[in-house]
Amino acid sequence: MKSAVPQNVAEVENRRLGTWAPRKPTPPIVRGEGCELIAEGGDRYLDLTAGYGVCCLGYNHPALVEALTAQAERLSYCPMNISSQNRAEYLEALAGVLPEPFDRVFLCNSGTEAVEGALKFAALVTGRSRTIALRDSFHGRTLGAQATMWNPAARRLYSGLLHENVFVRPDPEAIEDAVDDDTAALILEPVQGEGGVNVLSDEALLAARRACDRHGALLIVDEVQTGFGRCGAWFAHRATPGLEADLMPLAKAIGGGFPLGAIAYGERVAAALRPGCHGSTYSGNPLACAAGLTVIDTLRALDLPARAASVGARFLATLRERLASNPLVREVRGRGLMLGVVLRRRAGRHLARLTSEHRILALPAGPNVIRLLPPLIVSMAELERAADALDAVLSEE
Ligand SMILES: *Cc1c(COP(=O)(O)O)cnc(C)c1O
Repeated sequence: MKSAVPQNVAEVENRRLGTWAPRKPTPPIVRGEGCELIAEGGDRYLDLTAGYGVCCLGYNHPALVEALTAQAERLSYCPMNISSQNRAEYLEALAGVLPEPFDRVFLCNSGTEAVEGALKFAALVTGRSRTIALRDSFHGRTLGAQATMWNPAARRLYSGLLHENVFVRPDPEAIEDAVDDDTAALILEPVQGEGGVNVLSDEALLAARRACDRHGALLIVDEVQTGFGRCGAWFAHRATPGLEADLMPLAKAIGGGFPLGAIAYGERVAAALRPGCHGSTYSGNPLACAAGLTVIDTLRALDLPARAASVGARFLATLRERLASNPLVREVRGRGLMLGVVLRRRAGRHLARLTSEHRILALPAGPNVIRLLPPLIVSMAELERAADALDAVLSEE
């Protein structure tokens, strides 16, 4: 049977999908190029979200296109009970960029799976199941991850299914008070993404480490959004002197747009794992490994984490200067190319105008923050254009 060609793509999606807000009937996206998405009919959108921070190399980067095409011609699936050359290459490359104490990984397909596995590993190491997370946290949508995600309305929907987790304010004393001898793990994002681009203080992060050490709990640093250059370094938590995590979930940018996640761990966790204690059919998929390897090679070749630090600092300074006297703007904050423009009122209408009037895509973070996560290859000219557009939509009433 010939499949029907949708007359209105948004209409079809709205009819067939049930868990997303309805789409507007604008022409669908048909191509990506650099930092731009191109709609049917030719409208171009500057994407300052990199698709939720995923497309660190922008869209259709030639190195990624070539690597995926070549790998698809050679081998597109290889189960984990058989060795595969490109998986081994990827494992070595990934180990080469991981900070101390990480030298092992579990490969999966998404951020929530990486968080879920990290929670399981923490339970195996400690023999405990209770976890602690921070207010305004976001760690994903599967059951374990959802229990550690702050949004009370979202959690309430599934309350009977969720494991025991407590939330604390991200301040050192609250964190130290919350961790006890029943705690399996404390999970946190070094810069909270979904919750409002909240940069955690060194004091809070080090208090988390101390409290975990004192009670034999594990520290899970969720770098799904902040990792791989986003915050101006390979891993955001390493900006805090002396901070080492026990488990580090990764996803989003590590696949550059191809579904890929990973849990990094070291000797302490490895000692508690046994063959069969965790698994996944798509783990170490050859296409995912080819994408992952290309992302690492390209981030290295173009020095993109360091570039995110310098370009991000300039963009932050520009935004602060441009918006300094704007009564609508409370502050501009963030690190590297993960920035938030904090408003004194809800951000939704301004985000909609950025898109409709300036063809620029940005994300909300909490009710009143405009979140910017541009591809790490973004040009200064594109960021200047973004600053002009933000200034315009936040200046007119
Ligand atoms: C996006 C995100 C996740 C979940 O990743 P998915 O791939 O959507 O499952 C987990 N943690 C953080 C910090 C994220 O930003």
